[in-house]
Amino acid sequence: MLLRALLRPVLAGLTALLLLGHGAPVMADFALPPLPYGPEALEPAIGAETMTLHHDRHHAAYVANLNAQIPSNPSLKTLSLDALQAQVGRFPAAVRNNAGGHWNHSQFWAVMAPAGDGGAPSAELLTAIQQSFGSLEAMQEQFNQAAAARFGSGWAWLIRRLDGSLAITSTANQDNPLMDLPDVEPGTPLLGLDVWEHAYYLNYQNRRADYIHAWWSLVNWNEVNRRFQGSPSPAPTAASAL
Ligand code: MN
Repeated sequence: MLLRALLRPVLAGLTALLLLGHGAPVMADFALPPLPYGPEALEPAIGAETMTLHHDRHHAAYVANLNAQIPSNPSLKTLSLDALQAQVGRFPAAVRNNAGGHWNHSQFWAVMAPAGDGGAPSAELLTAIQQSFGSLEAMQEQFNQAAAARFGSGWAWLIRRLDGSLAITSTANQDNPLMDLPDVEPGTPLLGLDVWEHAYYLNYQNRRADYIHAWWSLVNWNEVNRRFQGSPSPAPTAASAL
């Protein structure tokens, strides 16, 4: 009898919590995606220790720090990670940095695969690369230069512009081509390389160019092809719409 009286408010409280959880029209907090392969899967180009630290510490910190911004920026609860990139300019720098860090690293794990498992550029992607750069090798050379020349920390990108052409760009810190920022060339990221020192220092120390060269063996072209197929197509011209 006494026990039942003691338990009643506890059970009522639990029920209220469950109803609140199911009824609230908000998204879950941002979550760290698991690596799509083991931490040793990209060796020898990227070692297991780098992968573990990079995912479990660096990427996890971006996610935790982004979630820590939710109480002071409650509209974050209504935005997907993709949608947030396109309006990050109206949020404080801590949101920009950590939302970018979360998006960029989620992309990075997906566009890599164990050497030999990543397939090849699709015929459609290869045609677009040849139209914009002349050849696959010329695109890679331009990408390597952008990655090597990024001063300090940042990313190199292969993007698809809104006019359908492809381009190589680079962004500082954790910015990316989806962001609504004046110093970012806009486009759909197809392939992005992390050139922060934490991405390569254990294996390559200061030899960033060696890291960039080795990284091409890890590119998951199957995923790059998927991103190319899903990227916005150019709007029809007035002539073709008639
Ligand atoms: Mn990183």
